[in-house]
Amino acid sequence: MEHANGNTLSKETATECLAALRTFQDQYVGTESQVQALSTLANWLQRLERGSHTDDEEPLDENSRQYLQSYHDQFTRISLFEVVGGSRERWRNPALAAELEKVDDWDAFDVFKVASLTGDRPLEPVTLAVLQHFDLVDKLRLPDKKLRNYLRGVEDAYLKNPYHNSTHAADVVQGLACLFSNNDFTSQLTDLEMLSMILACVIHDVGHPGVTNEYLINTHADSALLYNDQSVNENGHASVGLQLLRKSSNNFIEGLSEEQYRFVRRTIIGIVLATDMVGHAKLVKDTAANIRQLGADLQSWPEEKKQSALQMIVHCCDIGNPAKPLEYSLQWTNRIMAENFAQGDRERREELPVSPLCDQDRVDVPKSQLTFLEYVVRPCFEALRSIAPVTAALALRNIEAGCRHWQAQPRRSPSTPIFPLDDLR
Ligand SMILES: [Zn+2]
Repeated sequence: MEHANGNTLSKETATECLAALRTFQDQYVGTESQVQALSTLANWLQRLERGSHTDDEEPLDENSRQYLQSYHDQFTRISLFEVVGGSRERWRNPALAAELEKVDDWDAFDVFKVASLTGDRPLEPVTLAVLQHFDLVDKLRLPDKKLRNYLRGVEDAYLKNPYHNSTHAADVVQGLACLFSNNDFTSQLTDLEMLSMILACVIHDVGHPGVTNEYLINTHADSALLYNDQSVNENGHASVGLQLLRKSSNNFIEGLSEEQYRFVRRTIIGIVLATDMVGHAKLVKDTAANIRQLGADLQSWPEEKKQSALQMIVHCCDIGNPAKPLEYSLQWTNRIMAENFAQGDRERREELPVSPLCDQDRVDVPKSQLTFLEYVVRPCFEALRSIAPVTAALALRNIEAGCRHWQAQPRRSPSTPIFPLDDLR
C-alpha cells in the first residue's frame, strides 16, 4: 500500500497513524470539507489496519490524498507525543526524549537534532519541554490542548527562511532555559515573568520575511508603512504572535486575571521590540549600570528596570548562537549568511544598493564574525555574568573558541572567495 509520500504503509504504521490522526481530529478546528477529508482518511486507515483493504482498491480520493500530504508533518509530529495525563508528556521517540532531557544544557543540547527528528518543527516540543521543566504548566494551570494549539499555530506562522525560522525560535527558548537554570535565578522571577519571557522567545521572529528592517523601509513595504518605519519586523512579530492568542482554541492564558493578562502582554511586547538591534548598545549599557547600582538580585529592582533586565536576558538568547559550541555556532553562521546573501541578490535584482553584510562578493565572513563576537555578543554575556554566572561562563568560553576559529580562517581578498557559497544555497 502506497502512503501519500510514496512509502509503503504497514499495518503497524497505519495503527500508529490512526492514533495520531484521532488526537489531531480531537484538537482540529477547520472547515467542513477539511473535517470531512480527515474523516475519510481515518476510515481508510481503519480499513488498512483491519486488513479489509484490497490491493486494487483506490483507497483515497485525490482530495484526501493531498490533504494527507499537506498535513503529513503534523501527523508525524503528533505521533511523536503521547499524552499520559494532565500536562505531562512522554516523548514516544526515544531520541527526541533523550535530547529534550538536556533542554537546559547550554553546551550539550542539539536543536538541529530536534529539528530533524520533528520534521523541522522543533518549537512546539522544545517550548513544552521548557514549560514542563520549570513546572509552569501546572503552576499556572495552563490548559494543555490550547497551549499546544497555540504553539502549533505560531510554528506554522514561521516562514522557512534559512535563519529566521522556528528552529532559531526554539534555540532562543532553549537558551533562556539555560539561563533560568542558574542557581537562584528563577527565585528572582515570578511565574508570570518566566512565562512572558518564554512566550516572547517563542514569538520573537514569527512571520519574519527573511529581510531586514532597512530593506522593508527602502522598498516601502506594507509593513514599513503600517509601523511607520519603527522596528518594522519586531512590531510585526509581536502583533502576529499576540493575535494568534485571540483565537479561542489557542487562548491558553484566558484563565489569567485582566491585570495578569495586561502584565503578560506588556512584558512580551517590550521584550520582542527590544530584540531590534538598534536598541542593543543602550540595553547592554543600562543593564551594566543597573547591576552596579542595584546589585545582581533582580527581586529588588524597580519594575521598569526589571522589565529592562528581562529584555536584556532574552536579547542575549536571541544573539547567543555564536556563543554556543562551535559545531552549532558554525551552522548558524551558514544560515544567517545564506539569508543575508539572498537579500543581497534580491537587492541587486531590484537595482537597490546592496546592504553591506548582504553582498556575497564583498563580505569578509571571518572578519564580520569576529567583530560580532567581540563587540556585540561578548559584552552581552559579560553583562550577564553576575545574574547567570554558570551559563555566562560557558558562553564566554565558547566565544573565545569562536574567536580563535575565525582568527585562523584566511581573510578574504576580492579575488579569492573563501566562503563555501555553494553550501549556503
Ligand atoms: Zn531572533
